[in-house]
Amino acid sequence: MKIKNIVIGGAEAVVIAGPCSVESREQLWQTAASIKSNGAVMMRGGAFKPRTSPYDFQGLGLEALELLREAGDSFDLPVVTEIMSEEQVELVADYADMLQVGARNMQNFALLRKLSKTDKPILLKRGASATVKEWLSAAEYLLEGGNEAVVLCERGIKTFDNSLRNTLDLAAVALVKELSHLPVIVDPSHACGKRSLVSILSKAALAVGADGVIVEVHPQPEIALSDKEQQLTLEDFARMMRDLCEPLPRLVKGERELALCY
Ligand code: PEP
Ligand code: MN
Repeated sequence: MKIKNIVIGGAEAVVIAGPCSVESREQLWQTAASIKSNGAVMMRGGAFKPRTSPYDFQGLGLEALELLREAGDSFDLPVVTEIMSEEQVELVADYADMLQVGARNMQNFALLRKLSKTDKPILLKRGASATVKEWLSAAEYLLEGGNEAVVLCERGIKTFDNSLRNTLDLAAVALVKELSHLPVIVDPSHACGKRSLVSILSKAALAVGADGVIVEVHPQPEIALSDKEQQLTLEDFARMMRDLCEPLPRLVKGERELALCY
């Protein structure tokens, strides 16, 4: 799948990075410069935010879209941002290179039908309580309606275990790679909700066959307006990119040493 000059689902895994929410020009520029120089190929950033509480930061809306477009062009990073309703489709499509359907909207069939008629690639997140079959059926709405540029994204599901924000379902990633021709990427940030685990889960995602990862990065996560616990600092991101290029640690020591390389 091609988004401008970026290929998702090809020989090389891709890293998409950027803040949970676009908060200011300075925040976005600092992030864009840093992720670009460390090897990210696309940028994410929320303009319209799906928040559990109506009192939480809802995103900068149009201002964020304008900033994303400008930063994306300045740093040569195609941008992906979430679209929450049918009414937003034309507006967001004017600014973004890829449209994200969030977990909460995976089965918003009216939205999917409308997006199936756009010429923009779609990043379709798995619903937090969606089965693999429901997720693929949601993708089918886009394909059937005429938009075949769909990338799937596993972002963690709700399980009995509340130790982390969600449970990252890496088996589903391997399964979907078997069942479908669509590229699959992983969002470890929303899956675990914990900064210290994002890098190793990214590595695990690539080891299991994901076509890339999308991670949240913020110059000062401690003052972020959303998801402060899971956003990587610029330094964390640089370290993660170095770690991703190293082979995994040896798993078994014996007569033959088993090292996993993806
Ligand atoms: C996001 O990527 O900003 C987001 C809200 O993710 P999700 O829909 O997976 O919760
Ligand atoms: Mn977030």
